[in-house]
Amino acid sequence: MKIITLTQGHDPKAVQRALQAVGQWTSPFAHGDQVQLLVEPHSAPISAAALEAIEGVAKVWAAKSGHPRMDAHPAVVDLGLGVRLGRGVEPILMGGPCSVESEEQIHEAARMVAATGARVLRGGCFKPRTSPYSFRGRGVEGLEWMRQAADAHKLLMVTEAMAPEQVEVVAEHADLFQIGARNMQNFDLLHAVGRMRKPVLLKRGLSATIHEWVMAAEHLMHAGSDAVILCERGIRSFDDTTRFLLDLSAVVQIEQTYELPVIVDPSHAAGRKDLIGPLGKAALACGAHGLIVETHPTPEVACSDGPQQLNPTEWAEAAASWGFAPKPVVLTSDERRERTA
Ligand code: PEP
Ligand code: MN
Repeated sequence: MKIITLTQGHDPKAVQRALQAVGQWTSPFAHGDQVQLLVEPHSAPISAAALEAIEGVAKVWAAKSGHPRMDAHPAVVDLGLGVRLGRGVEPILMGGPCSVESEEQIHEAARMVAATGARVLRGGCFKPRTSPYSFRGRGVEGLEWMRQAADAHKLLMVTEAMAPEQVEVVAEHADLFQIGARNMQNFDLLHAVGRMRKPVLLKRGLSATIHEWVMAAEHLMHAGSDAVILCERGIRSFDDTTRFLLDLSAVVQIEQTYELPVIVDPSHAAGRKDLIGPLGKAALACGAHGLIVETHPTPEVACSDGPQQLNPTEWAEAAASWGFAPKPVVLTSDERRERTA
């Protein structure tokens, strides 16, 4: 597989036409602020030197793997609000309830989460549930409440889109898309989300191999995503004392072999509160670039995943044990004026 970098200022379409004249079928994709061309595998055999002689072709990179976009993906991604996630930067904490349930609940959750130094508010508005009789989320109304809660506490917002038809409305509200474990290989969804060019949190499928998982990331990138974060959330095992089995060796491989941003969700892996603190610590020790953890102002009355959601005290203790600390509040000049008035 070959990837072509264009000479600055050249029209990609004109270069594509010149390449097609020598039997090269290409598709353009964004790489940072550049356009690059992927040479499709069914193109005519040709040397890199012959391609580099074509006007507008700066460089030809012969990718050795079947996931060239992933190979070119940055090890650190920018999520907005100055938050960077990936290799070599401070780990990022994401927290919030399993489901957005009410305006009050998500505002209170955002307050708790921001107070611990977390930078991203999580919460599902479209919920994938095993039983059709379970709570399935507040939908668009929930997205609106969540956006307001995130803004009020200067947090980024991550939430799941379950179907291509939900992608646009989720993009209007969220800073990051979440692809849930059950949808990791929903290719139409991956393509629809990828086309939005927003950061994506890609959860590992319940029984997905690492290869299947990274190829799902490649689908997102092929469609246009240039900021993909993989999230290990536990895989199926024979043991039933935990909900899933947290696969930390996968985290090390994603970090070291693939050099992609990777975070860990100890909540869905364990399915119970007592393991979340230690699993979070272990994940960070393995090189995870962040954690996403479920917390609820009153887990005992939660509409979903009550047993694994940390209450406010447990959340504050866990966050501190992982080394997260509240950021000093920096007031805008308007806020300062308001407070001193
Ligand atoms: C979630 O994070 O809200 C969720 C449903 O998790 P998963 O897709 O990993 O089961
Ligand atoms: Mn949940």
